[in-house]
Amino acid sequence: MKFKSFLIKYGEIGCKGKNRFMFEDALIKQLRLAMETVEGQFRVSKERGRIYVDAESDYDYDDAVAAIKTVFGVHSFSPMVRVEEKSMDAINKAVVEYIDTVYEDKNFSFKVDTRRADKDFPGTSETINCDLGGLILDTFPETHVDVHKPEVMLKVEIRNNINIYSIEIPGPGGMPVGTNGKAMLLLSGGIDSPVAGYMIAKRGVKIEAVYFHAPPYTSERAKQKVIDLATKVARYSGPINLHIVNFTDIQMLIYEKCPHEELTIIMRRYMMRIAQEIAKNNENLALITGESIGQVASQTVQSLVTTDAVCEMPVFRPLIGFDKQEIIDISEKIGTFETSIEPYEDCCTIFVAKHPVTKPLLEKIEKSEKIIAEEAEKMVATAVATKERILCKAK
Ligand code: ATP
Ligand code: MG
Repeated sequence: MKFKSFLIKYGEIGCKGKNRFMFEDALIKQLRLAMETVEGQFRVSKERGRIYVDAESDYDYDDAVAAIKTVFGVHSFSPMVRVEEKSMDAINKAVVEYIDTVYEDKNFSFKVDTRRADKDFPGTSETINCDLGGLILDTFPETHVDVHKPEVMLKVEIRNNINIYSIEIPGPGGMPVGTNGKAMLLLSGGIDSPVAGYMIAKRGVKIEAVYFHAPPYTSERAKQKVIDLATKVARYSGPINLHIVNFTDIQMLIYEKCPHEELTIIMRRYMMRIAQEIAKNNENLALITGESIGQVASQTVQSLVTTDAVCEMPVFRPLIGFDKQEIIDISEKIGTFETSIEPYEDCCTIFVAKHPVTKPLLEKIEKSEKIIAEEAEKMVATAVATKERILCKAK
């Protein structure tokens, strides 16, 4: 059957009281963005606690389904048939046609579930259920009724129009992006940070991203990899402003003047300082990283504490308690894994010490940083002033 419409069901946001309109509007906005990536014309509209996506031209069903599946806040959705004429005859005709085309094999159990929101429509939900049930049994004798565990639950909603549907496709859940402020993701070319961005966006937070590169030690290809990753995350989060910061001078300075076993931790503290500066200038309320306790030397609890000491804003670390395999599973699901494992070098992998400290003492790190503080401060200002910005939008 060529469905022209989808009915969108939203879970968590349905119960937000006065904020409900704001949530619904954000969901509509994100649905529109997602449908822009699908060939064809679509209309997204709201009608009394219901959101619809209607195709206004030919379109690819699988592409449309894939796009709706990326929109946070969608609990589930159903391809449906809309009947404009409000009469029992029109419903009968549409139901028979619906069953005939959607279910090739008619050997199934079913139940009809009518909701009569329009109380002017004649009959009661029960009488309509009975009439339609009888009609289906008569027309397709292989079918049978099961009111407890039906294989097909045929929903008939009598509202301004009449909606007929029976297929329910799960959405990603979460909250619509744009309903929970904005945060700055530290996005590297690795596996973890794109997943971290996805998870925070899933809770309705709009995200921006910052990437530190160190040319000529890191290549244009490594930078392109991060742009590709941001574009993939943008499929879920909506467009991402990616700030690309030249970190070479700062990194060289640390490399030349600080104890080598402290390189990584001092470098991470400077990344946080710069990310925070850019975050503040762009109305971001928090930072996001892909860190997970104990994964590497710079992610021991002591290291995280030392890194956090330079942050005034909260740092969201949604992967903090995840094992690597759990993170990989999500990255495969959201489609970032293939890009993340491309073998381009990262600035952290070039300037690493053989034996980094795993239990850095804040006082000692601060003392080492004092030596470079003045020079580094100027470099930070330059790095922020000369950063590049690229808008990464899902294609
Ligand atoms: P990832 O797989 O995300 O690169 P990782 O396991 O390699 O993480 P680290 O290199 O220690 O871990 O980085 C920890 C976090 O710091 C990353 O998840 C990311 O949020 C941030 N980060 C690291 N390098 C960069 C970079 N070059 N630009 C921006 N953020 C970075
Ligand atoms: Mg990394």
